[in-house]
Amino acid sequence: MIVDCPYCESKVDGIVRGEHQTYGEHEDNPSKRVLLECPVCHCTLLAETEHWQIGHEEYKWSNAIRLWPEPERILSWELPDIVSIALIEAKKCFAGQAYIGCAVMCGRAIEGICKDFKTKNNNIAGGLKELLDRQVIDKRIYDWGDALRIQRNIGAHASEEKIDRVDATDLLDFALAICDYVYILRNKFEQFMERHNKDNQ
Ligand SMILES: [Zn+2]
Repeated sequence: MIVDCPYCESKVDGIVRGEHQTYGEHEDNPSKRVLLECPVCHCTLLAETEHWQIGHEEYKWSNAIRLWPEPERILSWELPDIVSIALIEAKKCFAGQAYIGCAVMCGRAIEGICKDFKTKNNNIAGGLKELLDRQVIDKRIYDWGDALRIQRNIGAHASEEKIDRVDATDLLDFALAICDYVYILRNKFEQFMERHNKDNQ
């Protein structure tokens, strides 16, 4: 079973040491949690795979997703393509230790948010400011976005400056948190308020 081992930072074919198959509350197909040993550094990993129907009476187990340690960050289907395409690339760059590429892709995700909200300003700095003024984001999210924009610029233009793993982790976390805030938490809060306003009428 192929997983990314965060200890030796490589994609490995984990040795299966145990597994447990289960059905979720509303799921027709089972999922499986698999205890793995990394064949390179011999550390313990836990991964999950789902049984997918791919045709009539035809099933296959999905690619493994690491649950422990450092669970893989799963993207929500609520994100628009213009944002999720960049985040998927950012995650791939990170897994491949291409940290400059990761920073550039995180910047592209933020640019995607600006485009999705049709900001008048084409550059990220102006777009973020507009999102702040329109109250799509608040000041802290704006500051995160702006920090990300600066790192993205380091990545996008030829220089001798590098971006290390720690900074790339933070940039990816920031980018994912900003997208969660804009597309998931805001909607959740609006729906919550709508429900409660109705109750109070
Ligand atoms: Zn390993």
